[in-house]
This record gives sequence, C-alpha cells and structure tokens, in this order.
Amino acid sequence: MDQKFNLWFTEYQTNDMALSCRVKKTLHQEQTQFQNLAVVDTDQFGRMLLLDNVIQTTIMDEFVYHEMITHVALNTHAAPKRVLVIGGGDGGAVREIVKHPSIEKVVHCEIDGAVIEASRKYLPEIACAFDDPRVEIVVDDGIKHVRNNKNIYDIIIVDSTDPVGPAEGLFSASFYSDIYDALKEDGIFVAQTESPFFNRDLIPRLYRDISGIFPLTRLFLACIPTYPGGLWSFTMGSKKYEPLDVDVAAIPQMDTRYYSPAVHRTCFVLPPFVKELLK
Ligand code: SAM
Repeated sequence: MDQKFNLWFTEYQTNDMALSCRVKKTLHQEQTQFQNLAVVDTDQFGRMLLLDNVIQTTIMDEFVYHEMITHVALNTHAAPKRVLVIGGGDGGAVREIVKHPSIEKVVHCEIDGAVIEASRKYLPEIACAFDDPRVEIVVDDGIKHVRNNKNIYDIIIVDSTDPVGPAEGLFSASFYSDIYDALKEDGIFVAQTESPFFNRDLIPRLYRDISGIFPLTRLFLACIPTYPGGLWSFTMGSKKYEPLDVDVAAIPQMDTRYYSPAVHRTCFVLPPFVKELLK
C-alpha cells in the first residue's frame, strides 16, 4: 500500500505550541533581502506561503482574512476611490479591493518584491489582480510611504506580518499618526491585529494607540484556522464613518465566501474576554 511521505512543516506559534502539517511538495525556498520565503503544498491546507517559518496565507482559508481586512472598511466608507495596501505581498487584499466598482486606484506598498513574485508564480488564484490597470505596485517600506503622502487615501489597509523584523514599526503609534495624516478627512484605516488569545498585551496597546488618534476605533473578529488560536482580530480607525451604522441591506451583492452583510454586523460582536482587553 502506498504511504504518504512523512515530511512535515511545523510553525512554532508560541514558545510552547505548534501547528504541524504534512508537506506534499516544497515548491519554492529562498532567503530574500528581508526574510526567509517558502511556498509548500500540503494536503490539509493546499499551497501555503511561509515567511520566516510563519504561515502567511493558505489556499484553504485565505478568503476569510482577505475578505475581512478589506470589505468591512470598504463598505463602511461612502465612496472609496483611492486605497493603500501596506504589506499584503500575496495580493489577496488587492484582489478583494478591485471587486468594488467605485475604486479608481489601489497603491500596493510591499517591502519585499520577492513575496510578490513568488505569489504570482505559486499562488495565482490569490495574486490575480496585480495586473489590474487600477493597481500600482510600489516596492518600498510602508512606514516611509505613509510619511511621504498626506491627505490622499480614502482607505489604508495594513496587511502585515507579525510585529517583528520589518513589520515592527507597522504596530507603532507614530505610524498610526502618519496613517491618519495620509488619509482624507473621512478616511478609514484597518490593520490585522493578531490573536485575542495569544496577544493579550499587544491588542490593548494597539487599541489605545489607535483610539488616541482616530475619533472612532472598532475591533472586529474572524475565524482563521491557520493563525494561532483560530480567532483573529482586526482594528479599524475611522475619521468619520461608523461601521455599525452601515445600512447592511444596502450593501451590494458581492462574490465573497466569508464576508456578507450579516457578517459586517456580527463581526463587531465581541465576546466578554475580548471586550475586557479593550477597557
Ligand atoms: N496575512 C498575513 C498574516 O497575518 O500572516 C500577512 C500576509 S502579507 C504576506 C505580509 C507582508 O507584509 C509580507 O509580504 C511582508 O514582506 C510585508 N511587510 C512587512 N513589513 C513591511 C513594511 N514595513 N512595509 C511594507 N510591507 C511590509
């Protein structure tokens, strides 16, 4: 009887906890200027993008993250035209943004061009909107990009790696303040803000920093099986629009598998242990 090879990838999600899955094939491996990059194929999750041995995205559950980091903010804004994505080198956020007919321009600022190239080649169903004429790719540090651009974006999405290495500054109050200035007067900012189970010091700090800068701060949740704990948080800072006031009945029908008008509401319903973090 044929047996599967016993080749496994293990991500140490904390010092004391790991997620392992059997690898069918290693498709790509390189050391880029910024990080160790790999794409592996697995039975459980399909192809996975790994940066410094941390799962970034997988074919099986990427839709949850990419739909939630984009559509909640885009459907909160009255008419988003110009969007900035920082990080997000796999292209999933950009793919979701261009589904909105009001969009005129998406600037995608990713520090590591090698992530974009590997995603184009090995994750084409995620990286499929890079050639949309509305998309401009800028290979640069997002921190520098927001510092040099004032009052031009309707939405800024921070689709970053964890707060270590080049992404550390993407979780700082001075960066949030530059984001505020890069947004127009009714702009909205959203960032992935890690796990409410395992980042119990980080989330309150980020929430406090963002609340100190934006008149409106809201945290929302989604279920993402390959991220530590499975439950993931996103934090929105808004200059004017309240995501909970959106008339969800008026949200146009979208081609999505996790986000829906009902989920737009329910994702802001926080269990008491998460609310506790924001006090
Ligand atoms: N969904 C993912 C997660 O939470 O694991 C994030 C995916 S995306 C691949 C993260 C990207 O952020 C990486 O490609 C990384 O190169 C990029 N990045 C990290 N620091 C950055 C910075 N300072 N400016 C722009 N991009 C950055």
